[in-house]
Amino acid sequence: MTIDPIKLDRLAEVAVRTGVNLAVGQELVISAPIEALPLVRRIVVHAYKAGASLVTPMFNDGEITKARYEHGADASFDAAPAWLFEGMGKAFSEGAARMAITGDDPMLLAEVDPKLVARVGKATSIAAKPAMTPIVGFAVNWNIIAYPTEGWAAQVFPDLPVEDAQSKLMDAIYDASRIGGDDPVQNWADHTAELKKRVKWLNDQGFDALQYTGPGTDLRLGLAEGHIWKGGASPALNGIVCQPNIPTEEVFTCPHAYKVDGTVTATKPLAHQGSVIEDISVRFEAGKIVDATASKGQEQLRALLKTDDGSSRIGEVALVPHSSPISQSGVLFYNTLFDENASCHIALGQCYADTIEGGSELSPEELQQKGGNQSIIHVDWMMGSDAVDIDGITLTGEVVPVMRGGEWAF
Ligand code: ZN
Ligand code: ZN
Repeated sequence: MTIDPIKLDRLAEVAVRTGVNLAVGQELVISAPIEALPLVRRIVVHAYKAGASLVTPMFNDGEITKARYEHGADASFDAAPAWLFEGMGKAFSEGAARMAITGDDPMLLAEVDPKLVARVGKATSIAAKPAMTPIVGFAVNWNIIAYPTEGWAAQVFPDLPVEDAQSKLMDAIYDASRIGGDDPVQNWADHTAELKKRVKWLNDQGFDALQYTGPGTDLRLGLAEGHIWKGGASPALNGIVCQPNIPTEEVFTCPHAYKVDGTVTATKPLAHQGSVIEDISVRFEAGKIVDATASKGQEQLRALLKTDDGSSRIGEVALVPHSSPISQSGVLFYNTLFDENASCHIALGQCYADTIEGGSELSPEELQQKGGNQSIIHVDWMMGSDAVDIDGITLTGEVVPVMRGGEWAF
């Protein structure tokens, strides 16, 4: 078995037409693992058919990434190509759209010293700011999809020969991405309408906080002042309606960076920067994580939390029912794009400015005053399951069921 070329082509078409929703005459900047070349070629075809003025793909490679850790001089671990990110930032400010392909081997750097990985991660995040700001601020239309690389497929289906594992992972990506059936564009329109219903109800409630109760979890999570729930396709500031994540099952908003208290235990492993962190459990005091443990990858977790002032506070809270198709598939993807859409989650680090009313017009300091967290990182991790209940708490202290046993309660 090999990866089905028809599925690959349809994924590419949906990414261009529904995902990024490329406008006629718009430039497109793509980044991808070199193994994803067959998918990128199909994306380029569909992008030019949709009227792209120019498509510029950029590739990375796991072996090349590892070579740096094996042979690079110590000073190499604080270096990052600022010139490249400045160029990408310039492209976005001049109107280019962005597409990213995920699918790297989740265990690529598992044997590398976590301190070196953290140094590279920090240097890269700082240098990447000009390229990331238009994305987290939703200034341009963007989209992320996945390609089943060998290393990733072997991690998800370790008992299969690698070609079969890739083929099976492609099928799982395809199903999770709602591309099956005759009309994927209509599938996505229906799915978005369903998400918008949840978004509307949550916005109408105007909750002050959420209370999570489950095994190892007792958390009161305050919401930012003027927070707005979002989900599904929405317009970027350039006016183009896009679907940033494919798949997506979440509705999400901005938590209050200084009003989170209690303990929370992860319900899935977190694949982060080439290694897997398992059984995360943390305790919050006034929004800050003051204690963090993991059964595996604890050193990576603690290094991540120390990245900067905002990396031990949260910037996103998202609700996903346990019955989401990704969750029902029973596949543990070891990839955040998929696992976060199978489970309620929170994200350490940077908030999305557009999840606060008028947030796109506010300075980082003004966002922070409303509770919007600021950091160079944004790392989602999963804390939902069929054993977690969530209540909304209104400004007057009224308690309203939001989720029961991992399912919507309204
Ligand atoms: Zn999310
Ligand atoms: Zn996130």
